[in-house]
Amino acid sequence: MPVYEHRGQQMSVPDQDLEYTGYFDAAKEGRLVVKKCQGCGLLRGEPGPACPWCPSQEWEWQDVSGKGTIYSYQIVAHTVIPGFKDWAPFAIVLVELDEQSGKPEPGDGLRITANLVDSNMDAEKEENVAIGKRVEVVFHKSEGDFVLPQFKLSGEAPQGPVWSHVT
Ligand SMILES: [Zn+2]
Repeated sequence: MPVYEHRGQQMSVPDQDLEYTGYFDAAKEGRLVVKKCQGCGLLRGEPGPACPWCPSQEWEWQDVSGKGTIYSYQIVAHTVIPGFKDWAPFAIVLVELDEQSGKPEPGDGLRITANLVDSNMDAEKEENVAIGKRVEVVFHKSEGDFVLPQFKLSGEAPQGPVWSHVT
């Protein structure tokens, strides 16, 4: 089982854990992937073996564009995780990817979580984080052979209302 290091934290991705190995293998190749249900064809970003919309547990990896909009976020002001202490405050963003927005029902979407980083892979400034801002995936190569998908602001025009807790 490969053990990686990210910001001084040891992380392992068990070989037999196909839910994660494919995600990180794709990241090494500069691809962002999500699960595609082989029953109903819908995409999903959250962990879990079963489709939330149909009974199927069959799925395959599907490449996505990595472009999306900040659907929600939280600011971590304080953390006990040693590797992230000098990063706080930092944003954890819930990104709604462009694929499948509003499906299968209005209000649904293909969403994944990540950190929001700047062009140096440091935490994006708190005042720059807002719901509605456009983002794109970037691949953070960490120590060893570990590559973590993250998001950065794309500079595109925001989508929908823009909201930030910083006024
Ligand atoms: Zn399904």
